[in-house]
This record gives sequence, structure tokens and C-alpha cells, in this order.
Amino acid sequence: MHTKLLALAALIMSLAAPVAQAAPCMIVTITGSQGGPQAYKGQAGPGTLVTYGDDADNCSAVRLQFDTGRGTLLRLSQVNVLSSQLNAVFFTHMHNDHSEGFSDLLMHRWMIFPASAKIDVVCSDDVPGPLGVPISCKKFVAHIADAQINSGEIPQRVFEDKRRAEGGPAAIANVKTFEPKNEPQLVWASGDVKVSAVRSTHIAGHASYRVDTLAGSVVIGGDAGNDTFAPPRPSSTSAQVEALAKGADIVVHSTIHPVMGPERDSGMPPPIFYRQSSASDLGAMAQRAGVKHLILTHLIPPPGAPQQGVWKVPGGALTEADYGKAARDGGFTGNVMVATDLATIRLPAK
Ligand SMILES: [Zn+2]
Repeated sequence: MHTKLLALAALIMSLAAPVAQAAPCMIVTITGSQGGPQAYKGQAGPGTLVTYGDDADNCSAVRLQFDTGRGTLLRLSQVNVLSSQLNAVFFTHMHNDHSEGFSDLLMHRWMIFPASAKIDVVCSDDVPGPLGVPISCKKFVAHIADAQINSGEIPQRVFEDKRRAEGGPAAIANVKTFEPKNEPQLVWASGDVKVSAVRSTHIAGHASYRVDTLAGSVVIGGDAGNDTFAPPRPSSTSAQVEALAKGADIVVHSTIHPVMGPERDSGMPPPIFYRQSSASDLGAMAQRAGVKHLILTHLIPPPGAPQQGVWKVPGGALTEADYGKAARDGGFTGNVMVATDLATIRLPAK
């Protein structure tokens, strides 16, 4: 055969051959399902890992961590994600159950991977606090390793390895703050991944996030509750989060079970109960928003626990089924997942 014909035949064959499919995919992993500062049976504190990529890289071209509760670094290690591999960390709010794992995570990156890029830390602008001390994510990050600076550890470890940033872990964080608003705003983007945020109510400066990708979308509500602090109100859920969740595939949300309410005798102060979203109201919200998967996490109380911290669980410990039932009682007909640590949903499903 003539060389040109051979080349043409080869070209036709290459076009006809199945090319490796690079279908986009996203994985949502609960890195911690514990709600509040309580320690219970080794559950990690609240956090959600969202990874995005394609089949060829097991959906891992971009890795985003939302909140970093106690034990986040350990949970990440269980899914083979290194501290150096996170592109960004997002905080919903400055409560320790959502943030205390960050010192561990950032120290690890600073010490073990001194050549890695700075990590983006995305969170709210400073806002006034109730006793005159501002609520400040910026200061939280700037002072993240003050104890180790003051103990002399940071200078000692810089002496050991000169590649480590002299300022310590805070020096490798690139803090990007934004003013949370009722309307979604873009707060972070990379390639096909876009993260937007809204203002939501829990404590001042609380924000909720949505990640949009070619494989699907996920909303991380955090501890959002309704702007009206107590009944009468249409729902315990946030109207801004509901708008953010419109048409999303997955909603991950902190959850309180209705048994902890003031009509029962849990002893939980009403303002603490009312600033969370109840499982049944989350079911109703997810249904209105047209969501496919509702992941209930940060469960108050944890299934199996007779107490939530110092407060008792009226009627005895709840089961995972009790949470699922509450969400369905709210009217949700999609998939309810009652989170345990490392629960995952992949889009598209395999
Ligand atoms: Zn919380």
C-alpha cells in the first residue's frame, strides 16, 4: 500500500478506536460527623472534603476541605489525602468544633512539605462580636501556631530545615476573606470548579458554600439556621441556604433532632436548639430545593449517645433510622444519608 494510504488508514483506525474516557467526577467525603465540642466514640469534628477531577485521576485534580474539626488530618489520611494536596480550606464559622483541626493540618503541611504551595484559606471578613471582640478568621489563621512559636518549637524546627517558612504555619496560608451576602457570590475558582458563598445565621460571620463542577454540585450548609432566631417562623432552616441549594445534587448540613427541643426535657437552652436546622425542616428544604441527596451530619445528638454533652436525650439514644425518618417526615423523597465519618457520595455514581 502507498505510504500516504497507510497513514490515512492509521488515522481512520485511531479515530475509530475507543479513546480513554476522561469523564468528569466529584467525590464528597464527610471527614467528621460529630456535632459540637463533645467527644464521642472517636468521631472526628465537622468537615467535608470535596474532590473533583476525572476517571483517570480518580476525581482528584482539585481537593477542597470545608471546615476542619478535630481529627480532620487523620480522616484525610484514611482516604490518602496529604495536607500538601489540599488546594483550599473554607470555614463556615469560627467555632472550635469546626476549626480546631486546622492547627494540626497546617502545622503538618508546614513541617512535612515545606516546599508545597501556600494554601488558600477562604472565610468571612471580620465582624463585630457580642462582647466587643471581633470574630476574625484572619486573626485565627494569623495566630494558628502561637503556642508553638512561644514554646520555641517553630524556631527550633526552622533551624532543622531552612526550607520551612520562618513565620511558621501561618506564613503558608493565603487568607482570602469576603463579606457574606444574601445573594451567592463567587469566592474561589479553579478550572471547572467554582465555589460560591452566602451569608447564613448561626453566629456572626457564618457562611454557607456551594461547589459547582461539570460532574455536579454540592452545598455545604454548615451550622446554618433561620434568620428568625425562634418560633414563630416558617422553618428552622436558612432561606439563603435554600436558594443556594436550588437544583444542587447534594446538600451536606448540620442537623439537630427535634427531640432536643424545649417542648421536651433535654435541658438544652432554647437559643442553642433554635440556631440549628432540624432534621425534619432540612428534609422539607431539600425537597423544595429539588436536591437529590441530603447528607445529615454534625448530628445533635450522635446516634447511640444517651447525652449531648451535658444535655440528656429525651426518650433515650436515637438511631440513624430516627434521623432518616425525621427527614422523610419533613417531606424529602430523595436519598437521605445519615453521616458517619468517611461517608461518601460520588457523582456520577459508579
Ligand atoms: Zn458546630
